[in-house]
Amino acid sequence: MKKVTLLGGTGSIGLQTIDLIQTHPEQFQLVAFAFGTNVEKALPVIEQLKPKYIVVQNRETFTKLSNKISYSPVIKYGMEALNEVVSLPEVDLVVNAVLGSVGLEPTLEAIRAKKQIAFANKETLVTAGHIVMKEAKQHNVELLPVDSEHAAIHQCLKAENRSEVKRIILTASGGSFRNQTREELVGVTKNDALKHPNWSMGAKITIDSATMMNKGLEVIEAHWLFDTPYDNLDVILHNESVIHSMVEFVDQSVMAQLGTPDMRIPIQYALTYPERAKYNLSEPLDLVKIGRLNFREMSFERFPCLRMAYEAGRVGGSLPTVLNAANEEAVKLFLDDQITFLEIEKLIERELESHSVIHNPDLDSILELDQEIRNRVSNAVLKR
Ligand code: NDP
Ligand code: MG
Repeated sequence: MKKVTLLGGTGSIGLQTIDLIQTHPEQFQLVAFAFGTNVEKALPVIEQLKPKYIVVQNRETFTKLSNKISYSPVIKYGMEALNEVVSLPEVDLVVNAVLGSVGLEPTLEAIRAKKQIAFANKETLVTAGHIVMKEAKQHNVELLPVDSEHAAIHQCLKAENRSEVKRIILTASGGSFRNQTREELVGVTKNDALKHPNWSMGAKITIDSATMMNKGLEVIEAHWLFDTPYDNLDVILHNESVIHSMVEFVDQSVMAQLGTPDMRIPIQYALTYPERAKYNLSEPLDLVKIGRLNFREMSFERFPCLRMAYEAGRVGGSLPTVLNAANEEAVKLFLDDQITFLEIEKLIERELESHSVIHNPDLDSILELDQEIRNRVSNAVLKR
């Protein structure tokens, strides 16, 4: 029986994790449940699984939840409390499904407490990959990827000699606007952007998929998780999201991992690792029914966010922190109807161009810079 702390429990990944915990009550027990502010989504889960500890984002949510709950768990709010529940002695497994770089400190705490970590929170690795991976190595903790591409790569690399790997190929569905030209992106709406062709996900990552920043963040995530140089990380467009990613070896053999676009499969992989558990929450992959798989070359001209992510990753230092913070803020502004779709990439580019890179930034510099960039991006828009 694994005892679980779940961060980001009311989100898309969080609720799918709950599905799996409910499907395997003999394997998992939810001990701590953390979310932001969505009490309506949290309450049914909390009442059913009765976690002993609950963490929310702020005091207001704390009061709202405390008034509605029927039993007496320990309820806390704020960052400190988030750091506490990932290092509880009784917890074996931490699922980090929180959105954004707010997941950085709890990730480091979970590593220091030597927990098994099922890791969805890619922004954390983008903003501070060098710090997170150094701590993970020191404490001999592996981050088990939940992201479908990285779960695929993890499976392809499992029994392999790493010196025989030539390159990693991440697949990209292309997102909501894959059939549009750049000219056609002028005037696209939030609702258009939120319609992902293959996956049902949270709002931020759905917008990131439409701008291709999601793939950029994933390239940086793969760089850190699999210790692979950017020159050996490629991206190709693959409409059907059936091949989740591939690894090419020195003898030109290519290994791929395939599956239906159902995030609960890679989530379960990270939860039950190193074992595989039976799965029957969706129909198995039927290649005959799918008939054909399509691939196209990726274009940096069509998707400048991917180009910017490669550049930021290659330069390193504090530049990926700037990329991530500017993107998080720009996407927030787009979702709040403050900017157009094409302004997202412009805001990010401007921050990247004006930043003087700090080499090997420490945690405090990263947290400070993250806040500074967010403020700059939102002030520039809200003041105009
Ligand atoms: P959602 O927006 O659906 O959920 C985000 C979760 O984080 C919610 O529970 C939210 O709480 C919580 N949260 C946000 N801010 C805070 C905060 N400051 N303090 C505490 N909790 C907070 O996101 P997704 O589930 O889509 O994505 C989560 C992570 O997983 C992201 O890093 C994403 O890139 C990654 N990922 C997601 C995939 C998907 O299919 N969705 C696929 C691969 C990776 P509340 O809503 O209650 O405020
Ligand atoms: Mg992914």
